[in-house]
Amino acid sequence: MAVWDDVVGQERVQEQLSAAARDADAHVTAQAAREPVAAASKMTHAWLFTGPPGSGRSTAARAFAAALQCTSPDRALGGAPGCGFCDGCHTTLVGTHADVEVIRTDLLSIGVGQTRELVRRAQLSPAGGRWQVIILEDADRLTEGAGNVLLKAVEEPAPRTVWLLCAPSLEDVLPTIRSRCRHLTLRTPSVAAVADVLIRRDGIEPDVAAAVARATQGHIGRARRLATDERARARRTAVLRLPLRVEDIGGCLRAAQELIDAAADDAKQVAEEIDAKETEDLKVALGAQAGGRMPRGTAGAMKELEDRQKRRKTRTQRDSLDLALTDLTGFYRDVLALQMGSRVALANEDVQDSLDRVAQSSTPERTLRRIEAVVACREALERNVAPLLAVEAMAVALRAG
Ligand SMILES: [Zn+2]
Repeated sequence: MAVWDDVVGQERVQEQLSAAARDADAHVTAQAAREPVAAASKMTHAWLFTGPPGSGRSTAARAFAAALQCTSPDRALGGAPGCGFCDGCHTTLVGTHADVEVIRTDLLSIGVGQTRELVRRAQLSPAGGRWQVIILEDADRLTEGAGNVLLKAVEEPAPRTVWLLCAPSLEDVLPTIRSRCRHLTLRTPSVAAVADVLIRRDGIEPDVAAAVARATQGHIGRARRLATDERARARRTAVLRLPLRVEDIGGCLRAAQELIDAAADDAKQVAEEIDAKETEDLKVALGAQAGGRMPRGTAGAMKELEDRQKRRKTRTQRDSLDLALTDLTGFYRDVLALQMGSRVALANEDVQDSLDRVAQSSTPERTLRRIEAVVACREALERNVAPLLAVEAMAVALRAG
């Protein structure tokens, strides 16, 4: 069952996918032997994986894709497909299988052009003779036009094409599309399950694994980053100090500015890592001449790349801020738990002193209002309110009674 190893705490989903992969395999085998193909299959051509951030939507989709491509001889002996070791499983999991396309975007939306390209790809027969699998990690980012292009392909799929769409929730996907998909809901894995996978797979020390799993409340990707990335730890520490710094207006405004600067810094770092090389690669592809002069007619392509990079920067900045707001919400949730005397395990045990101080100097009602202020800030950012304004308003509300 190796392909499912990284699918953490999703037993029901795993069972369904495993059954579908088994049916899909029977289908391929029967067709290859020119035998009649059984109907009423647990397999279908379009799937929609939803679940909160960090629940492992794309990991589950990728595991399913691997199981669909599994060619292990054990299958014939009644073993379920998805051994994790055969060529089909392995190349899918490392991202080099010719018949598995993973679309991940670092932009805020997926447009018509890119979707047309995908739909064209979906018409191809699988080179390996099994399934043509397309994983769309951010189906919630399809523009309406792109959704309509995709709809056609999902409605009338090529016989061996499988679409695996991922999105945070059903509501994030166009109704016409989601109604044609089989829906799977992933849940937030338990803190223990996340700690376990960090220890087992990433070799992280048990006490560190337990602490980061608790701090990120079951978000595997964030937990792993927190355990391995010094910078991510420093960010979190800074964010969790904020509730103690919003005592007067000056402190609020300074704290807000720092949050914004940190997000801008993250975006700048990503840009430095990727942009320069991307630009250089495109210049070479377009036939840059010695001295950096570009041939005629290439300005449009260069401009397009610049726009793309600008949009990516905006997105990185927004994601970074969003992470900070998640940590802040977690902090006040812990404060509320202390104030109510509830016995739940605290997410931010490591800053217990700060939690105690804030809990003792306020009331549960006030804490609830503070949580609402963080939520309102996130909503404002989603509506494209200028980030500094939204964060300043939040910081001031965190102070006011
Ligand atoms: Zn396999």
